[in-house]
Amino acid sequence: MNTPISPFARIVADLRPQLENTSPERALGAASQARKGPTELALLLSPGAARASGELRQRAHHVTRARFGLARNLYAPLYISNHCGGRCPYCGFGAQQKFSRRRLSVEEVVEDAKILRDQGVRHILLVSGDDPRVDLAYLTELLEELRLFATSVQVELPAMDVESYRALAKAGVDGVTLYQEAYDPDVYQALHPSGPKADYEWRLDTLERAGRAGMVYLGPGALLGLAPFRTEVLSLGIHALGLEKRCWKSSLSFGLPRLHNVPDGFSILHPVTDEQLIQVVVALRLCFEDAGITISTRESAELRALLVDIGATRLSAGSRTEPGGYKEPGSAQPQFSVGDSRTVAAVARSLEEAGFDPVLKDWDRGFASKGIKENGNKYNR
Ligand code: SF4
Repeated sequence: MNTPISPFARIVADLRPQLENTSPERALGAASQARKGPTELALLLSPGAARASGELRQRAHHVTRARFGLARNLYAPLYISNHCGGRCPYCGFGAQQKFSRRRLSVEEVVEDAKILRDQGVRHILLVSGDDPRVDLAYLTELLEELRLFATSVQVELPAMDVESYRALAKAGVDGVTLYQEAYDPDVYQALHPSGPKADYEWRLDTLERAGRAGMVYLGPGALLGLAPFRTEVLSLGIHALGLEKRCWKSSLSFGLPRLHNVPDGFSILHPVTDEQLIQVVVALRLCFEDAGITISTRESAELRALLVDIGATRLSAGSRTEPGGYKEPGSAQPQFSVGDSRTVAAVARSLEEAGFDPVLKDWDRGFASKGIKENGNKYNR
């Protein structure tokens, strides 16, 4: 197979001098620009920006307060299957890993959703490995049931075509999260030489397909640790600028998953430090003032508390990363181990103690009069 070509490669190459900038003054100047684009993002990701981190953190903090106030969204992932045809070497679900796999029935998914509902969580992210039996028929049946327990259902599933996303939107899904994993095409191809994720361009176009299908929330991201973070996040930003232009009806929320524990035999070649992750959040916040930034339970409670104050707007809480993990914790293989294992209540409490408003539910189907007329009080059960 030919090596894929990144549509951003030329811009990233042209911005090397800015990305390697060593002057804090230039980075601060970029932060002061009213309109920011790839050049400013490159300067804010540079080593020079790292040397102005105190001032830039303050500015990011003020932008986040001005745009999002004190509200911070909480959600929980709900894993439905750890079957996977992919062989991504960095992932606990890869087909090369030998363990007994589990796919939840619709009833089992509902049991986990009820447990989350009882914890107050009404925003769910459905997650699955690349499992052909997690198909549209199964998902549609599942979504019909989940409407009773969740006010927002988003998905982190294998890449789909527009028609499939349209069907999911019609069934109640309002957002799609899909990480490019590595924007560097050489790294991408080395990690996904065959199988369902081998097509770099198809994956790169996925969120645009989801936007065209009417998804309200689009979640781009890069898996930090696979390739040098500065070029990866610059590519992510250029990707997001294109999504903002072409999918202007949708809202963006960046995902910044960082590799910590990986399967035996895989090494994290480009580890990202806490300071570097903070720099990434600052740079994205300053360049994308209205975009959400999601920080998952891969990160520690302490770091999440810091990032929420600087720029993160959406946190997972009480997460289990194995199918059936809310009803039967530990009964199946997880995708990764979490760094913040606090309960939903504990995460919400710590946000409140820091002066934030944790938001577990920001929409009720009862607001839609059409829903009331057609469905009576069904949604309020
Ligand atoms: S990253 Fe996705 S496709 Fe790859 S092994 Fe993990 S679950 Fe499967």
